[in-house]
Order: sequence, then C-alpha cells, then structure tokens
Amino acid sequence: MSDQTILQKLEILADAAKYDASCASSGTAKKNSLGGKGIGSTEGMGICHAYAPDGRCISLLKVLLTNHCIFDCHYCINRKSSNVRRARFTPQEIADLTLSFYKRNYIEGLFLSSGIIKSSNHTMELLVEAARILREEHDFRGYIHLKTIPEADPELIHQAGLYADRLSINVELPTDAGLTRLAPDKDARQIEGAMGGTKMAITQAKDEKKRFRHAPRFAPAGQSTQMIVGADAATDADIVGKASRLYDNFRLRRVYYSAFSPIPDASAVLPLKRPPLIREHRLYQSDWLMRFYGYQPGEIMQATEKDGNLPLDIDPKLAWALKFRDSFPVDVNRASKEQLLRVPGLGTTAVRRILTARRHRTLRLDDVAKLTVSLAKVRPFIVTCDWRPTLLTDRADLRRLLAPRQEQLELFAA
Ligand code: SF4
Repeated sequence: MSDQTILQKLEILADAAKYDASCASSGTAKKNSLGGKGIGSTEGMGICHAYAPDGRCISLLKVLLTNHCIFDCHYCINRKSSNVRRARFTPQEIADLTLSFYKRNYIEGLFLSSGIIKSSNHTMELLVEAARILREEHDFRGYIHLKTIPEADPELIHQAGLYADRLSINVELPTDAGLTRLAPDKDARQIEGAMGGTKMAITQAKDEKKRFRHAPRFAPAGQSTQMIVGADAATDADIVGKASRLYDNFRLRRVYYSAFSPIPDASAVLPLKRPPLIREHRLYQSDWLMRFYGYQPGEIMQATEKDGNLPLDIDPKLAWALKFRDSFPVDVNRASKEQLLRVPGLGTTAVRRILTARRHRTLRLDDVAKLTVSLAKVRPFIVTCDWRPTLLTDRADLRRLLAPRQEQLELFAA
C-alpha cells in the first residue's frame, strides 16, 4: 500500500466515495471516457456537485480518507470482509490535493468521508485534522462537507463542526431492524444521539452569532443524512415516515435517498437486484412535497399503493390528487396558494406567477398553459373563466390518461 502513488490512491478512494449519494448526480445514461477519448463522462468519479447555502451549484472533490474499515456493513463495498483494493490518504495529502485542485479552479470545496480505521475516535481525529490543516494552516475559505462517525466522541464531532460548512451523519437504513440486520456494528440510538448533539451545537452557534459578531461558526450549512433504499424490506411509507421524523427532530437540511446498488461479492442477506432508480426519484419528489408544497407525511403515505410503496408510473402529487379527487377542481382565479400547490403539474414558480397575475386580470386556460409543461395533467384539476373539467375529474380511466407513456427500456440498461 505504501508504494501507491497519490494518483493511484485517488483513483481508489474517489471511486469508493461514489456510493455516497449525499452530493451525487444520478439517473443519467453512463458513458465512459477511457483511453482519454471524449469529455463529459458521467462514469468517472472524484468531483461531485452540491448546492451551497446561497443556492449556487458548486463542485467538490469527493473522496474517502481511506476505504479500510473495521466495520462489516453488508451493503458496503468497503466493509471489512470485502475483497477490494484498499488505500489510505494522510490528512496532509487530503489537504494538499484539495488545495491543488482548488488552485487549478477544478473545485470549490471538499466532501470528505472515510471507512473506520483502528477506532471511530482515531478516524474522526484524522478527518478533523484534514479540515484543520485546510482552515488553519492555509486559511482555506472553500466549502467543506465532513461525514462524521456517530460512534466517535462528541467532542471530536464538535471540532469537525467548527471547521466544516456541513456535517452529515448517515442513518443508513430506514428502520432500526434493518440497521441491526445489515449494519450490525452500528447503533440507531448512537446515530440519533450524534444528530441531536449536532443540532444543539448548530442552534447554539446561531444564537451566539446574533449576540457576538466573532462567535465561532458551527456547520453553518447545517446537517444532512442519507438512507439506503431497497436493501431491506422497508416500504416507501416507512421511509417517508422516517425522513419526516428526522427533519422534525434534528432540523436536517436534506435527507438523501440512495437506491441500493448490488456490489461485487455481495452478502447473501442482500437482494440480488437493485430497486428501480425511479423509486429513488419518487422519494425525492415526495420529500420535495413535504418541504415545499405543504404536504404532511401522512398525506404522502396516503398516496402509496397497497404494498406501502409509491406508484412508479406517476408522481406522488398526481397519485394523491387521483385518490382525493373531491379536493378538485380548484378555481385558479380564487383558490388559496395551498390549494393551487396541490394541483398536479403546477410547481411553486407557476403558483407564484398565478397569484401575481390574477391580481391584474382573470386567468384563462391559455394563461395556465404558459406556466406548465403539461396542460393535459393540469386540466382535470382546475377551473378557469373559460374552462371547467365537468366529468373529466371523475373519469375512472383518468390515471391511464395522465400516466406518461412507458418508454422502451434499454436492453442492457443497469
Ligand atoms: S462503517 Fe461505513 S465504510 Fe465501514 S463498512 Fe459500514 S458503511 Fe462501509
């Protein structure tokens, strides 16, 4: 291992980091650029995109400190019993890499995670040290997202928050039973305890900042977490319930959902097939509905099918509207903002524009058509001065009419 060059280590440890979805882009067809041919490959690793607190999209060097690990989480390619090439950076090497990419303008920050070496405390010390070198020795002002290790001493997690913009602690599985079965070394109470400590420290730092201009900052971009979808029997209703509790209890900025992907030499307790990527997408849509559209978690759960999962062929907002048709149609010229946000096909921007425009004139169907990509989806659920859906809203085959036509799948698609 000591003979590995920095580039070889980077190849191994940036590749190993791609399984963390907390700042990943997904859902695109893969193209590689092996042999130096072509640009814009979506298959490579190393740089990911994230949104800064001010809404800017920034590129981060996404890498593990090491993929050695003393834990044996079944779903993880870096687990103790996995037969993968291993590598390890020192904190100084991580700092040097970050600075050299930063100075070349390749990145605007660092996303650093790690397998656990020796002990949780030892690993957390190394992660903190990498961030310390960057901040204190180089006055690095770029973005730093540190994964924290919930089993580590709370004081070490606190130090991480003093250097990082964002901290994240992965809950990993949606249910405690799933965690016990698939990540036997982890403990749900410890994970939530660490999240609780981080929440308190963030709140305290914000309060102090209001009183003292020079109070130290603590994870100003908040904390986030990741849940693996499809590795255990948890349904979408379970996942939505867990996500909403996490948002409420720990004021998380984001919950990321990562469709479980089968790994080489997978453990026999894991499913053989990955869940469809569209399931991950539906969970993100439902997350959006809870955060920006005023849906309660119970309402998202009402949109699930008998098996507790969200439909894959239609989005959760449409699924809810089809189940609760007595809430529609809504009058675009009179309905409240909350009612308009429930209309399938109307996003937050469209609703804002409707509210502004109707102050000056009465809206027609054509006006709404300019604000949506699919008027067909909106029509059954609205009334305008020149449109009334009459029986359309209650048609038995409405779901079939509105579901997007299924596309021919790629024969060898992953
Ligand atoms: S602790 Fe993290 S790196 Fe180690 S096996 Fe579990 S998920 Fe993988």
